[in-house]
Order: sequence, then C-alpha cells, then structure tokens
Amino acid sequence: MSMRIGYGWDSHAFQAGLPLRIGGITIDHPEGLAGHSDGDVLLHAITDALLGALAVGDIGSFFPPGDPRWKNADSAIFLNLALEELQTAGYRIVNVDTTLVLAAPKIGPISGDMRQRVAELLDILPTAVGIKAKTPEGLGLNHVAQAHAVVLLETLDDKSGIGVLEAEIDDPAVLDEVLTHIGVSEGLGSGKSRRMVPLPVFDTEDIT
Ligand code: MG
Repeated sequence: MSMRIGYGWDSHAFQAGLPLRIGGITIDHPEGLAGHSDGDVLLHAITDALLGALAVGDIGSFFPPGDPRWKNADSAIFLNLALEELQTAGYRIVNVDTTLVLAAPKIGPISGDMRQRVAELLDILPTAVGIKAKTPEGLGLNHVAQAHAVVLLETLDDKSGIGVLEAEIDDPAVLDEVLTHIGVSEGLGSGKSRRMVPLPVFDTEDIT
C-alpha cells in the first residue's frame, strides 16, 4: 500500500453583499468572500491539498481565474475534478483535516453541518473530516478568511474490489473464472488469500 499526503491553503477577502459560502454550505452573514468563483475558501484549500497529494498542480492550473466559465462557479466543481484525478491515480482519501482562520462568523455552531457537507462532497464519512476554526489574533486580518487543509491518501485496496465481486457473484466457480480473467490467478478458492491485481505505478504524467 502506498500513501501520500497533501496540503492546501487559500484566502479570500470579505465583501459586503455577497453570499457567504464555506465548506459547501451557505452561511447567514452580511458579507461573503470575494472571488472569481463562489469564493469557498475551504473547498479551494481541500482541492489544492488533493491535487498536491497527487503532485498534479493546483486549482489555478486546472481552472484559470480569468476563465469566464468559472465565474461564480460552485466550488464543488473544483473538488470533483480533484476527486476524478484521485480515482484515475488509484487513490482514496483516508482523512482530511482543516483549519479555518477568520474573525467572523463563529464556525463552532455550524461546524457539524459543514463537516457533514464536506464529507458528502468527498464521499467519505464525517468521522474522516476535521473542521477547526481560529480567529486571526494579532494578525490584523479580520477582513479575510483563510483555510488550511491536509489530506492523507492511500492506494485503493484491490481487496475491496474483490469484495465487491464476491458480494455480486454467488457461484464460487464463476467468481474464480472472473478473477482469473482479470488477472487474479493465484490462491483462488473460498477461504484462501488471493494475490491481488497489482496497481499501475503512480505517474503524474499519466494524469495531467
Ligand atoms: Mg480560492
């Protein structure tokens, strides 16, 4: 099994009259975060952490800020692109941890909703998502929201893929035939450990 770690950071300035979107939810607040997209600072940091873990660039290299297609875009689009890259590379998310830095609004009361939404967007359990918040004490940055995110990835376990086949194919003979066909040829039979299909070697040039 191979593991990779990724880190992402982002900041956006508050601006009156905009809807505030953080972590994929809309928050009741007199100011929102200015940006070419919806300004979701947390989803941007997580997207960069995912892309960074795969070493395939950053959000700006996939979605140039000047591109009119991404004007006011839902940042879940960016996250989905990173998740596609993840799948292509044969990885899954182990967990995500994040820290928001902003003076207001208070994140504590809404962190549960935010955690739930981020988990949904990433298709992982809420227990694998950390949402923390700090105020920018002494930084003089009360007009700005910042987000830090780290992610841990691991290679997809072929065992789980075989588990899916086992759940779907009742007949052991048919299951063995399918596994042989896809290259799992050793140690077949119920109760025996099977040799797993080797995953392709990670190569960023295959992805970009
Ligand atoms: Mg951003």
